[in-house]
Amino acid sequence: MAQSVDTTPAAGKGSGRGIDHGFDSREYAAFEAYIASNASAPGLDESVEPPEVVTAAARVVAKWLRDAQGKAVVLTGAGVSTGPGAALPTYRGPDGVWTRRIRNSLKLEEGSESDAATDAADDDDGSGIAGVLASAEHKPQPTLTHRGLTALVDAGLIGCVATTNVDGLHAAAGLVRGSNYAELHGSLYVEACSACGAELCHNPLVDAPLQTVEPETRATGTSCKACGGAMEATLVGFFDTHQSVPSMEQQFELAWVAAATADLMIVLGSSLSVETTLPGYTLENGGRLVIVNLQPTHLDDQATLVVHARSDDFVADLQVALELPVCATR
Ligand SMILES: [Zn+2]
Repeated sequence: MAQSVDTTPAAGKGSGRGIDHGFDSREYAAFEAYIASNASAPGLDESVEPPEVVTAAARVVAKWLRDAQGKAVVLTGAGVSTGPGAALPTYRGPDGVWTRRIRNSLKLEEGSESDAATDAADDDDGSGIAGVLASAEHKPQPTLTHRGLTALVDAGLIGCVATTNVDGLHAAAGLVRGSNYAELHGSLYVEACSACGAELCHNPLVDAPLQTVEPETRATGTSCKACGGAMEATLVGFFDTHQSVPSMEQQFELAWVAAATADLMIVLGSSLSVETTLPGYTLENGGRLVIVNLQPTHLDDQATLVVHARSDDFVADLQVALELPVCATR
């Protein structure tokens, strides 16, 4: 029986307490320690600046983008896939996938198992990213942000977009994985050959998310058209390394090189809880860091500019400021 690929790290391991949180106790302890050491904890309150503030900020960033002359990197997170068209959940927003997992665990600690069971049932009911994408009713389309960023890449203003998202929507909007686009945590729509590394990209707008054939392996059950080797899922989990997911290396290298030579990095819709190192490369290069997110992040105090805004609103204002047509969602 086919096993769904889960987007959540260390997926598929029960807590041993009757409710499957997707963690075993060792992994959960490590995760709790990680969250405790990170200011961008799940569930922080969201805020939005007044529209005129977002517009003014976008004008400033438009100037910085022009000044960067293509040496600009955009790092995106779940927040760019929440808008009209895609409507996917966040991970660490007030009702995000991870926030709910943490909330459930706390309820278990406090003994309110019935509440936790209800929320766990909600969680298992397809509200995780993979579950939503696998449902026949929900075929997410690229948002204004996905389309707008592709337009800015095409205009030569952005050299590279890196994302922690696994929904493939940047590719669906026209970015090219491995060229101007890095999928840091892999993709639910890309499998890679375990022998020669050749990749097979599926279409998120048409195809179902990839599944693995056994829970213990990454094998997708298909063979490489180039060498006959076994194809594997590229999805990167919380405890995965470059050794366990070889395609990670190329994706991270693309993003690292771009970040380390960038004059500007714009973070869009990411709490920066997982991908924490990339902005540092741009800062070390003397570049500016702009963070556009609804929640605070632990790098806010190092940013040149922080804007609490939805990414679609900010990107639309950015396109206007750059005198480019604002992309519509479909
Ligand atoms: Zn191969």
